Amino acid sequence: MVKKTAILTGEAFSPLFFRHVSPGLGDSTLQFRFIHFWEARKNVKGGPCIFLGIEMLMIDEEGTLAQGFIGQNRRNQYEKELERGSIYTLTNFYASNSKVMYHVADQNLVICISHVSALSKVEENIEGILTERFRIHSFSDFEANCDLRGDIHDVVGHLKLVDGQPLHQRLVLCTKDDSTSRRVMVHLQLKNGPVMNIYLWDEAAENFCLKFDACAATRTVLLVTTVNPKRLGGKLRLSSMSYSRVFLDEEVDSPKEYLTWLKTAKAMKEEATSRNGKRKRQRNPKTPKEEPEESPKNQNNDKKRQRDTKTHKSNQHGGSSALSKRPKPSNFLDTLREKLSGGNFRRLNEKLYTCSGKEALDYFNEDPTLFDMYHTGYQQQMTNWPELPVNSIISWLSSRSSSLVVADFGCGDARIAKSVKNKVFSFDLVSKDPSVIACDMSNTPLESSSVDVAVFCLSLMGTNYSSYIKEAHRVLRPSGWLLIAEVKSRFDPNNGGADPKDFVKAVSDLGFSSSLKDFSNKMFILLHFKKKEQLNSNKKKIEWPELKACLYKRR
Ligand code: SAH
Repeated sequence: MVKKTAILTGEAFSPLFFRHVSPGLGDSTLQFRFIHFWEARKNVKGGPCIFLGIEMLMIDEEGTLAQGFIGQNRRNQYEKELERGSIYTLTNFYASNSKVMYHVADQNLVICISHVSALSKVEENIEGILTERFRIHSFSDFEANCDLRGDIHDVVGHLKLVDGQPLHQRLVLCTKDDSTSRRVMVHLQLKNGPVMNIYLWDEAAENFCLKFDACAATRTVLLVTTVNPKRLGGKLRLSSMSYSRVFLDEEVDSPKEYLTWLKTAKAMKEEATSRNGKRKRQRNPKTPKEEPEESPKNQNNDKKRQRDTKTHKSNQHGGSSALSKRPKPSNFLDTLREKLSGGNFRRLNEKLYTCSGKEALDYFNEDPTLFDMYHTGYQQQMTNWPELPVNSIISWLSSRSSSLVVADFGCGDARIAKSVKNKVFSFDLVSKDPSVIACDMSNTPLESSSVDVAVFCLSLMGTNYSSYIKEAHRVLRPSGWLLIAEVKSRFDPNNGGADPKDFVKAVSDLGFSSSLKDFSNKMFILLHFKKKEQLNSNKKKIEWPELKACLYKRR
């Protein structure tokens, strides 16, 4: 493990990052923000709880979460210093592998503050250190981690029922009866998942009720941190822990983004319903029962819908999404042009999946206009996807430190670089923007071990895709992230796709460890890996499975 010593020379102070901390005494300086702290207690059968100390959750400039501990005999010395949200430096700490029942952070090590430690508050805020970072899991992740004592994660979703009550009646949850410990049960609908029962206990229940009641408008989205997945009566349920926190709607970024997604999804659904209704009405124009009630407002909307439906009818590519940015064809010639370009897109797409990266580069170099044609078709295809994988990657990056350096392999319109604060190197076969570096991504100009995150978002296209991943391995620093989003059907062994297990094994054999396998989306899968610290000594030949081409149907 790299041992980095902090240099405290006034100007050039470089703190030690959590990921570089090794077990034992540490005399370097850590710098972090306190996110949360709570009392650790041990339950004794029949007796009172024993107070063990204060546990803490901290985040460093790289966005790594670590757990800290202050023993009960040092409580008085430090407790009054602790302030949530503030930045601290810490020297002379002790990092222990001590057995914690559940981990609430990225690190397995616990950073203990001892009598020789120096903890001091930094008066100025450091913007580069995140104020929060959540580790949100999907239903399938909770299912996989159910009844295990290990890492526990956060959940976000929208409220369906609170203590069995629907939300449309204005509920008041806080009662004057504080004598018994509180419990609230919510039914939470997860994105791309089922409705889950979540039990909130004690402080989490209390805070939920206070926050829920505090606003005149009904709250919709709930985030609960560190929930424990358990199977009760055959059904998976999540329970809050003594250190869980609750956030509603716009309080912090994660539920805020969820709320935006929810509103967009609702608006798109309404639009699709109204279009379907309109289409039906056009097929059977004399069915008066189907006419909506007329108000001056929806008369206008109806005119607009008629306009939309007319253009939609002539749009043979079925660009049915509200997100489609392309002007819709207005006459027969436009429609014909569109059909031809659709054909070109399919031809180019097939070409990219069936040739090597080098051949693809030569092909586009000969006629760069083909690249525009490809991307027009690609954007059109994407309008049929309810959620874009690139947005998942953007929100992953946004929830981490913006100091992470990113390489976007096969960046297309460089959406990642345009959406995050990080330094992003964007690579594609053709550069349509000065920020994009044109190259075959099996051979980028980046130095070895120079980036923190390598992204492949729907871009493992060539027959030599393994050489792209090898290139990512070269440019990533140890412990760097490899994020892959790919079309789901390419990993469906029942339909000629690769077995995801074989793919994960091949990437792992190259020198990565798998950290996330998310199959919850209908259209794409997300695989996250971390580059191993040590080079693989095993030089066995890696078996890369063939990745089926993703060919789009004629519409
Ligand atoms: N990542 C973007 C674009 C995906 S389309 C997004 O999610 O929106 C796939 C992109 O990978 C295309 O722009 C294609 O040109 C690029 N690509 C495919 N093979 C490549 C290679 N060998 N080198 C560089 N870019 C490549």
